[in-house]
Amino acid sequence: MSSERGPDLPPVADRVLLDAGSIAERVRELGAAIAEDHAGEDLRLITVLRGGAMFLADLCRAVDASLQLDYMAVSSYVGGAPGAVRITKDLDDDIEGAAVIVVEDIIDTGLTLNYVLSMLRARKPASLGVCTLLDKDVRRIVDLPVTYRGFSIPDRFVIGYGLDLGGLYRNLPYVATVRDEAIL
Ligand code: 5GP
Repeated sequence: MSSERGPDLPPVADRVLLDAGSIAERVRELGAAIAEDHAGEDLRLITVLRGGAMFLADLCRAVDASLQLDYMAVSSYVGGAPGAVRITKDLDDDIEGAAVIVVEDIIDTGLTLNYVLSMLRARKPASLGVCTLLDKDVRRIVDLPVTYRGFSIPDRFVIGYGLDLGGLYRNLPYVATVRDEAIL
């Protein structure tokens, strides 16, 4: 049986942290802020596949300004420096001189995003910011330019709205915390 807020909580989850309505409301606010800050600029919203794609899809429709979308994919280097990643799918467009915002589903230690930002910065965008839906700021190791933040969340593993556990649960319309015993 499904409830009004969407599919029932899967057994691996213990509680809904953010329901679909709260996410939608915050996405509208973030979209309005981005439109106001970047009116008239060559705005590019970029996400790193796969988790951020769902947030990007909703966020871009809340930005009432001219913009372009682009996507990249990375995979971590086994045995490499912390956060070091290899690009497995690069951006299609050049970003030199553009106002770039990297759209993320979640920032945890920040190491991955820090590495991605340094790669993008080398391409000389006019500006480079970050918009994350979720921020586990207590776990941050590196300082990042988080310009737009949806929600600060506690140090719990979460699923839904693009976030997965073993490839599953990305399609949940809400964000839920996972039971500790389900992560091991
Ligand atoms: P960071 O480099 O910031 O530590 O890691 C960021 C990545 O770890 C995210 O892009 C995401 O893929 C994954 N991650 C971190 N915390 C969570 C979480 O609570 N749930 C899920 N599904 N992935 C997470």
